[in-house]
Amino acid sequence: MALLNELYQEIIIDHSAFPRNEGTLDAGTHFAEAYNATCGDELTLTLLVANNFIKDVKFHGQGCSISKASASMMTEKIKNMTVTKALEFSKNLQKILNGDDLNPLDEEMMGDLIALLGVRQFPMRVKCATLPWHALDDALQCLILP
Ligand code: ZN
Repeated sequence: MALLNELYQEIIIDHSAFPRNEGTLDAGTHFAEAYNATCGDELTLTLLVANNFIKDVKFHGQGCSISKASASMMTEKIKNMTVTKALEFSKNLQKILNGDDLNPLDEEMMGDLIALLGVRQFPMRVKCATLPWHALDDALQCLILP
């Protein structure tokens, strides 16, 4: 188990040090910002949605490694998902991070995100890990008007 924790930590450190899809989409269709007062994490998210698919996504975040890593992994995960599927995935993941049991199917679907499961032992950090997913939920409700 110690070895597994080390591996998870490496995944989190890697994503927070070298965030994937960082920045802002100039041609984004959806936008949200989120703030976690408990830890001070800030995050903005832009999405490009076309034909009900998330074609592209970028985030800009300031805060702890957990929130950054979660955002970075999220962008990789949801790119090319349908909006419906992304919302479903987000809802399920937030439940799991908040302590719901996960079945083998969830484990497979989560991929690298499984590295975030450690936060379940630290209720304060759950908010860090779920922040980007709250932002995603908000963004998908928030169409940028041309
Ligand atoms: Zn945080």
